[in-house]
Amino acid sequence: MNGGDQAAFPPWLQGRLGELVRLVGSGQTPPGLLVTGPKGVGKGVLIRAFLQRMACTEGAEGLFGCGRCNGCRSFLGGTHPEILQVTPEVPGKEILIDSIRAVIEFLSLSHGGPARMVFIEPAEVMNLNAANALLKTLEEPPGGAMLLLAAAQPARLPATIRSRCRLLSVPVPERAVVESWLRPLEHDALSADEALAACLDRPLEARALLDDEAAQAAWRSDRAALDTLLRSQSPFPVVQRFLECELASLIPRLQRLLVSAHHYLVQGEADAFGRLFGTDLLRPFAARLGMRGTALLYQDSLQWQRELQAPLNPNLRCEDIVLRFWRHPMSS
Ligand SMILES: [Zn+2]
Repeated sequence: MNGGDQAAFPPWLQGRLGELVRLVGSGQTPPGLLVTGPKGVGKGVLIRAFLQRMACTEGAEGLFGCGRCNGCRSFLGGTHPEILQVTPEVPGKEILIDSIRAVIEFLSLSHGGPARMVFIEPAEVMNLNAANALLKTLEEPPGGAMLLLAAAQPARLPATIRSRCRLLSVPVPERAVVESWLRPLEHDALSADEALAACLDRPLEARALLDDEAAQAAWRSDRAALDTLLRSQSPFPVVQRFLECELASLIPRLQRLLVSAHHYLVQGEADAFGRLFGTDLLRPFAARLGMRGTALLYQDSLQWQRELQAPLNPNLRCEDIVLRFWRHPMSS
């Protein structure tokens, strides 16, 4: 993290970063730390800032590593010899026992140098064998090592893992705090408010959307697909639009649109996500689905989310999803 990145560090994470730095400074490093908080709130950003601070050899006084020394540079380049970061080998899939065996081997090589640190994210996707393999290390990590786990759904971790970790929850920031953090990146095409709504109120994703052309292109495709779904009298143009999207980003937004339709039926007005498409489009869509239709399709959407991991034919999958908007009993 260099000077510019420090200014961009989410303000709601600073208190937690301070707690972590003080904890280590007081010599009370816990063997296991489980950082929890909703998706997109900044658990990984927090832990990486902490790890860089630990890697920094300039003896920084503040919360952040200097960004210039060898320690910071090797951490940022992913080559720091005392720090190992573990993610699923295939994004979106489980963390398997081989990855945890690599952690155990990495820690066993620790001999008298600075304590090693391992960051596992997202920890809840460790499969059972992997979690069991980690358990013993978590009880007594060699050489005073520290294991840091980040989980948006900590309940999916075995209780034995959770009970061996010190817990640190990342607070959900107030909307005004997030908006003022995003505002410097606003531009004509996208406001902070719209970016947050488009990213389902996940601040880090909203920042990436404001800042990144590829994320904006993905949002434009998803938005056009959902807009077509709201307008179209027939499923076929919608299927075509869906095929132009990444389902991994489209499906959560489709699910969110169902929540907005339900919200409209209950409250009689559009929520922030619904307003991105306009009440005039949302109203007839919500009325056509009805309470029962939105509830049934929401249930279906949970299945669509799970199927994102499965290697299914995208054409068939898009057809199947879109046709359900026409097949369901659409009356409340
Ligand atoms: Zn440094």
